[in-house]
Amino acid sequence: MKSKCKLCHLNRELNDSHVIPSFVGRWLKKTSATGYFIAVDTEGTAERSQDLYKAKLLCDNCEGILNQFETYFANNIFHPFKNGTLNAIDNNENIAKFVVSISLRVLWLHQGINHPFVMKWAHILNKLEQEWRQYLLCSGDFVKGPNSHHILFSNKQLLANGLRSAPNLILNLLRSSAFYPFEKFGKAYIFSNMAGIQVISMIYPHELPASIGTQVYPEQTLGGKDRPGIGWGGYFQNIMEFSNKQDAIQSALPKGYKNMIDRTVEKNPERAINSEDTKLIYQQQIMSRKMKTQPDS
Ligand SMILES: [Zn+2]
Repeated sequence: MKSKCKLCHLNRELNDSHVIPSFVGRWLKKTSATGYFIAVDTEGTAERSQDLYKAKLLCDNCEGILNQFETYFANNIFHPFKNGTLNAIDNNENIAKFVVSISLRVLWLHQGINHPFVMKWAHILNKLEQEWRQYLLCSGDFVKGPNSHHILFSNKQLLANGLRSAPNLILNLLRSSAFYPFEKFGKAYIFSNMAGIQVISMIYPHELPASIGTQVYPEQTLGGKDRPGIGWGGYFQNIMEFSNKQDAIQSALPKGYKNMIDRTVEKNPERAINSEDTKLIYQQQIMSRKMKTQPDS
């Protein structure tokens, strides 16, 4: 059945497109203790999964366009960051296009279900949707707007500060993918988490405070080896809430799933021991114990 492609607006056969690109899911699976990870569907139900969320969004041609940005990002940013070899970041437009394409997909999904966030900010979102589409399609009508997009790189050290409020923060952020619109303290943005690399696309206001060195669109300030931390309150609020929600989801998992994890670990203990899951659980416990013994300053 043909439908209107979200990007080019032509009537075409549509693919099941990933919202968070498949390279993130493949990496999570490969580095997991069990070969599976937890995925949350649009109804909020958590399930054992081997793939990330997909929706009918794009035609073959547009899927191919976004694929180029994804491949660039996976090879030049995501995998080097995860392997600890990410040094200076080139000023390359593929990075900005990748980031814009992620938030655009999240926006489409939420427009499709008339999400309250989309209704509230429709006057801005409809303009942004057009701008972002024209940017990705290199359309002649494209004009760069002022709303900024950012990439934040979280690692264990950075997240350790939050362990007091959300004890599983490190694990929940570095071992998951997620996408949602978020609004707090007068700031509205689209947020995506890809195993610790996060995209923030500002809806209101245009600019993200305390964000020097993280912007990829409309200007690119991201680059140096020492990437800046995260200096604004709304950000930590968001990831704490996210982490606590994940805890609730994990504890609501059916017993059968938990047994399945135990059996998988029993069958291949070496894989489990060497997995990112296990390493992070261990490091998180050490950090959390250290935090507890430190007096409040
Ligand atoms: Zn298309």
